Parts: sequence; C-alpha cells; structure tokens
Amino acid sequence: MKRADGITYRTAVVPVRMRSKDYRKAHETAYRAGLLFTNLAGFRQEFYDREGRDPSRAEALGQVEDPELLRMHAHSKQAVYEALTEAVSAALRNIGEGVEGVRMPHRAKNYRPVAFTRGYGWRITPDGKLALSLGRRDGRILLPVPEVTDARTGNTVPADDWGEIELCWDRDNRTWSLHIPYTTHQPPVLGLQNVMAVDEGIINPMTCAVETAEAYAVTVINGRSARAVKHRRNTAVAALRRKQSKCLKGSRQWRRYDKAVKRAQGKAKTSLRNHNHQVSRKVADLAQEHDTGTITVGDVRGIEKNTRNTKVRRSGRHQRRRLSQWDRGDQERHVAQKTGVGLVHIDESYSTKTCPACLTRNRPSGRNYRCRTCGFTCHRDAVGAINILMRAKHGEYRAIDPDKTIRVTYLRATPLHRAPARSRST
Ligand SMILES: [Zn+2]
Repeated sequence: MKRADGITYRTAVVPVRMRSKDYRKAHETAYRAGLLFTNLAGFRQEFYDREGRDPSRAEALGQVEDPELLRMHAHSKQAVYEALTEAVSAALRNIGEGVEGVRMPHRAKNYRPVAFTRGYGWRITPDGKLALSLGRRDGRILLPVPEVTDARTGNTVPADDWGEIELCWDRDNRTWSLHIPYTTHQPPVLGLQNVMAVDEGIINPMTCAVETAEAYAVTVINGRSARAVKHRRNTAVAALRRKQSKCLKGSRQWRRYDKAVKRAQGKAKTSLRNHNHQVSRKVADLAQEHDTGTITVGDVRGIEKNTRNTKVRRSGRHQRRRLSQWDRGDQERHVAQKTGVGLVHIDESYSTKTCPACLTRNRPSGRNYRCRTCGFTCHRDAVGAINILMRAKHGEYRAIDPDKTIRVTYLRATPLHRAPARSRST
C-alpha cells in the first residue's frame, strides 16, 4: 500500500507457536470475534433500515446482550466494529461501480483475526516478550518477540515501527500467524531512460537483460526449487485423493484425507510465496544496480491458451500442468513493489526464435540457441531476454551491437527453509 507522502505500508506474516493453553484461548477469542462480527452486521442492517443511518461504534457495541461475545480486549472489539464498517463501505463502493453480485456483509467466517493495538493490545514486556492482551478475564498471551524483516531493504524492523498486530488462523495450514504491519520508505527513483527487459519462463522464472557500455548483461534466475515444491505437492495431493476416493464421501476418514490435502496445499503455498519473493528480490536488486527506470516484460498472456490448442499439445501432460501453475503475476507485482517502477508489457512473439545477431528465425532445441545462418550461439533464455530488450528500446527486433559481448550470470532462487528468517512479507 502506498501513500502520497512516500511512506509505504507492508505487512510481515510471522508464524507463531503457542503453548496449548494460549492456543485454546486464541481459538476461543477468534471464534468470539467471528460471532461478534455476525451480530454487529445483523444489527447494523436492522438499524439502517429503521434509522436510515449507520449505528455509531458505541451504539453497535452497546446493544450486544451476550457478554461472551464481548470477552476480549476493548480495542479488539473496536477493531471488529471497524472491520465491519470497512466491509460495508467496500460493498457500497462496489455497488456504486456496478459490480454484480455484491452483498452487504452479513456473516463472518467461523473465525476472525483478533487485532491488538500498539501499546494497549500488544506491548513488549520488560523481560523481552511480546504480550497480546485478551482483556480482563483471559489475561494475555506471551510470545517470543518475532523477527520482522523489511522486504525491501532486508533490514530488521524494530518493534517501535510496528502497527496494529493481527493474530490470524490459517485454516488450510492449521497454524497461527501474526500479521505485523510496518512502515517503510518509498524506493528511490531510478534513471528512467535505462531499460531492463524480463523474459519469463517455466524453468527460469525471470531472465533479465540490460545493455551496459561494454556488454549485454543477462541474468538467468533459476526456479528449480519451486518446481520441486510443486512436484512434491502434486504427488502428495494425488496420492491422498486416490485414497480418499475409496472412502465414503463425508466419512471421518474422508474428512481426515481432506484435511491432509489442505495442509499439503497450504505448506506448498507458503513455500511458493517465499520463492516468488526471492525471485522478485533478485530482479529488483538488478534493477537498482543498473539504475533501471523502465522494466519491460515480454507478454506471455496467451501461452496457456495456445498450449491447449493443437500445435503445442505435444508438450504433454506434465508440461501443461507446470504452465498453468505459473506464478508470474505475483512475481511481477512484487518486482513493481520492490522497485517502485511500473512494469510495461510488450509483445514477445518470436523472441526466443529470432537470432539476435542476424534476425533470422531458428527453432531452438534444448537449452541452447544456435543460429543456422550465422552460427551465433547463446543460452536460449538469454536470446529471449535480449530480443525483448531490443524491442523495448527500438520498437522492433534489431541486431545487437557486434562489438559488445553477452555476459550471462546464473542466480538461484532458493526458498528459505523454516529455520532462521521466519518472516515473510506481502
Ligand atoms: Zn544468426
């Protein structure tokens, strides 16, 4: 999220483990928050129909009769009310814009995140723990102070810079996590005239090319670890589904398999999200290093559609599955956020076939490109990125400067494993 004054908000998501007593308290509070939301949403509608305006916070919270629903920190209750008014104004905005099928908020899911305001809801205790207050009756949950890392700079964000923390239950992962917002400053403005081209692919998620005074610098970012994660998930889910299909639908065993499937999917999702951040981090660093003000991405929209057409069908079952699970949208969004530079899409047809030296078209086979006309050879992904770079700069594919070398660097995006850095960012 970006504000006009150059301050950007980000949210770090930090998984937490709790003692069983706190774990149970957290569930009960999140469940009450869900009930409270539902109660307030019903009351708001009724009140609006009667009075022609929305109830104030005091009116809304004051009408709750069941004291159980209010059993949480005063600020957490207020946050539930505020979440409702936000949901109402979002619904009104969508209705105003003519979005179809919009409903006013009427019911929360089973659980709602529990919000803790800074200084009141949460605080750092003198002996260095994070205390989340659940109100008078339930006391507080004590946790080790989480490490929050600024996604843009990689620096640790001190607790002084955190905002309102939310304690959220991830249904699929079946874990609790803290969502900790923090402020960060807008990335520096880069040299607008410098262009970086990005070629997106399946094996190498992003290949970047820039032209320097003496060379075409190409960086290939390898995505092998993400493919391994997806492969593992697909295999595990398929095996579970096979077993599940032998059970009576809805039976206890069937539900057990269903839970296991969700857990496997949730785990993979976390890993992949991490991977997408790693890829975009590397691209953003390159953009900074080369003072890039324009990032041009070869437009691949349509590849997935074409794949289902007859011609490319021979790519086979496995290839198609990988294509459809491509995370380019997320990666592009992260690059834009991390650099503050908007991404431009241009047509990339024939970019992997055209020879950068003589512009004839070849059909590359394997990972290397070799031109049958002039003998030019290069890494196949580098060819795509260089061609996109030339088209971005000149509006068409143009032969590269023969006096400049092509320098190819390989980087690997490895998802972090659970251990040291536990925070990831959205
Ligand atoms: Zn050639």
